Amino acid sequence: MYDKITNPNDKYSALKVNAAIEQPSQVNSEFLKRHVKGKELSINDYVDGILTKNRTILSQAITLIESSRYDHQEIAQQIIERCLPYSGKSIRLGITGVPGVGKSTVIDVLGTNLTKTGHKVAVLAIDPSSERSKGSILGDKTRMEDLSTDPNAFIRPSPSAGSLGGVARKTREIIVLCEAAGFDVVIVETVGVGQSEIVAHSMVDFFLLLQLSNAGDELQGIKRGIMEMADAIAINKAEGENKQKAEIAAGQYRNALHLFPLTDSGWTPNVFTCSAYDNINIDKIWETVNEYVIHTKKNNYFYKRRNEQNLKILSESIDSHLKENFYTNSIVKERIIEAQKEILDNKISAYIAAQKLINDYFNDIKKDN
Ligand code: GDP
Repeated sequence: MYDKITNPNDKYSALKVNAAIEQPSQVNSEFLKRHVKGKELSINDYVDGILTKNRTILSQAITLIESSRYDHQEIAQQIIERCLPYSGKSIRLGITGVPGVGKSTVIDVLGTNLTKTGHKVAVLAIDPSSERSKGSILGDKTRMEDLSTDPNAFIRPSPSAGSLGGVARKTREIIVLCEAAGFDVVIVETVGVGQSEIVAHSMVDFFLLLQLSNAGDELQGIKRGIMEMADAIAINKAEGENKQKAEIAAGQYRNALHLFPLTDSGWTPNVFTCSAYDNINIDKIWETVNEYVIHTKKNNYFYKRRNEQNLKILSESIDSHLKENFYTNSIVKERIIEAQKEILDNKISAYIAAQKLINDYFNDIKKDN
């Protein structure tokens, strides 16, 4: 094929293209060895694969969790159920901060420091990619270059489809599988610009807020809620000329935190500066997490927080199930449009309309039973 573009009469033409040399396969041979080609995996295969730390099977199981297909969901739920007894042993660390603060760089350095000392690190993301922009805030750049090729790390981008509630549920389920696969540090990354940090906070043991040194302006703008959730605040990019400014900012954050009431955990949030570029104080993040874990295990808050998170999952699951059942009920679907019209025409109050719809729904269910 190449010969067609050269002059066949001129053997020594500069345009002559040499025949291609066969390249080695681009596919990792380890992957091929591990991949069960063409075979549908049974639930046992999935569970055994996860428990024997087979990353390919872990990834495939996560894909089932992320799928919206009913049959996939059914299998996924059984895998999760079987993995639950092997979960719960990791430290779950949430990291939030505005885009550009350095989350992925910090996680790359922190994660690599951790794998070097024998930890196995999973990084999951909750990405509030808006339905409107269709874009992903976290996912569209090359991120965590060292960690992404580290055999002791596992990085999974945010499940893209669905509501924040749906993503939250899937992320919690993915945590269970990662823990069963032996990851002892699970980092949940999210962007601190909306509701997603509240969701991330609801599934981790420790919550780190990354900030930049322009605290003067930031303190005005930052939502008090995020500061209240933080177990530590790290001012990133604190190197070179920026270091002094970062220290000043750290002082301002410490002062601001003093005004907050004491937390239920009895822990006073730490504030320090760090630089992911120069790997300065990134270890301090992990030291702080460890101190926190020791402190909260001693006073039982660690377990209390996890129990509360579990009970919240129960109530959230019931809420979403009931809601879905209500809105997909055929009588409700039919009558809700009428009700909306009557409310807009001032013929009925919204409260009474709601009560009527709920009565219709329960009567319909009773009829079926
Ligand atoms: P994210 O959007 O929060 O994940 O932020 P990134 O990790 O992508 O970092 C945003 C930019 O800040 C990138 O250009 C990084 O190279 C840079 N950056 C990250 N950490 C540091 C740091 O410690 N010092 C400096 N000077 N730049 C950093």
